[in-house]
Amino acid sequence: MSGAESDSPREECGVVAIAAPELDVSRLAYFALHAMQHRGQESAGIAVADDEGVTVQRDLGLVTAVFDEPSLRGLTGHAAIGHVRYSTTGANKWDNAQPLARPREGDIVTLGHNGNLTNSAELRDELTAEGEAFDATSDSELIAALLASEPGSLFAAAGAIMPRISGAYSVVAMSRDEVIAFRDPHGIRPLVIGQLDGGMCAASETCALEQIGGEFVREVEPGEVVRIGPAAVESVQAEKTASRSLCVFEHIYFARPDSVLDDRAVWESRREMGAVLAGESAPEADLVMGLPDSGTPAAIGFAGESGIDYAEGVVRNRYVGRSFIQPDQDLRRQGVRLKFNPLPGVIRGKRIVVVDDSIVRGTTMSQIVQMLREAGAAEVHLRISSPPILWPCFYGIDMATRDQLMAANRSITQMAEDFGASSLAYLSLEGLQTALGRPAGNYCRACLTGEYPVAPPENGVTASACGTVEDDSPRAGNGEPVRS
Ligand code: SF4
Repeated sequence: MSGAESDSPREECGVVAIAAPELDVSRLAYFALHAMQHRGQESAGIAVADDEGVTVQRDLGLVTAVFDEPSLRGLTGHAAIGHVRYSTTGANKWDNAQPLARPREGDIVTLGHNGNLTNSAELRDELTAEGEAFDATSDSELIAALLASEPGSLFAAAGAIMPRISGAYSVVAMSRDEVIAFRDPHGIRPLVIGQLDGGMCAASETCALEQIGGEFVREVEPGEVVRIGPAAVESVQAEKTASRSLCVFEHIYFARPDSVLDDRAVWESRREMGAVLAGESAPEADLVMGLPDSGTPAAIGFAGESGIDYAEGVVRNRYVGRSFIQPDQDLRRQGVRLKFNPLPGVIRGKRIVVVDDSIVRGTTMSQIVQMLREAGAAEVHLRISSPPILWPCFYGIDMATRDQLMAANRSITQMAEDFGASSLAYLSLEGLQTALGRPAGNYCRACLTGEYPVAPPENGVTASACGTVEDDSPRAGNGEPVRS
């Protein structure tokens, strides 16, 4: 689920970088961001570089709302970076939109970041002591400040600053004549390199490469910095890979199903999770349905393995976004009906299995079960294609605090009763690894196990995705060239 009625982990951010002097780089960035809209719907931005400097345009809203034909035509240059962002409620301000821009050695550095730093409080104190001025609380801004103050090429600067930053970061950055991308030593957030007909690019997901006619070349390795040129990438392994810890929720929920992560199609991972889940806990039932769209591949896998018929039991309204106008009290009682409408002809009298990807706070599931029962379901068996979320995320996913996580505070039997479900079962941790076909050591699974690959912040505070800026300064100059 996503949108105003969501109980899934909230998504994070998506980044793209393109070096292609002969191509329309801003339009390519626009289409790449559009392909990654699922990673963040609250703001979008593109920066383009020409020989004179860098121009940034960013704003709140979906990619299609932030850019139109005249604005894209005005963004010309030899290279571009772009960003889509999700933020927690209350931090949805224009200032939070990226790419960020900061003066650097007679030039400008612009930056887009996916992830969250775990040492931002200490780093902010250090940088302030070094004379850097901050009027906001964005960890992305800290990375930009570090890059801006480091001498030499941007490529060298990224390698030099990596020992000072901890946590999750997949970053694209650009100056007038350099485009770089780098990834934290654990590789918590994805970042891939692609080849264009006339250039090179990097993006959070392979679906973005395909959208702009690019071909997947390889991942940016954990701890690696790449300089993206029009014909090739230059690389340095700046930090030793600590342990590969790709966020397992990229496979479970975040990434688009047509993307490929660590050589594995995401759709296939999800279908396998459903198949293994069926092997672990298929009930006696008449049909299997997924909660569209994220539960669909797992439901298909569940049906295939269990031999229970698959059917679409609800229709989803795809146009309920996070910016959806909150309904009045009466309509709010309808809750999930804004998002889903059941098909009584399919459901009536049936014992149904409902497959969903995850439960965070558990705020919507009882409404879903009630909706299905009112549509005539004889039994509603809930099957979740991930293990229970028991711990918060410190790496850029808005998942709630531990006391808000339902599975951390209620037994599975209690949860089934709370939801009014006939039964509830989760995929086991072992089952998850079987479905992924990779050793557990390849992934961050901290929200499932409490074993964090990077120590959480000392104050234990979870930050919003991709940093938070509380400043409310005016947006004058947006879309105007940023000159050094
Ligand atoms: S804690 Fe969970 S959501 Fe956060 S990065 Fe790790 S696996 Fe992903």
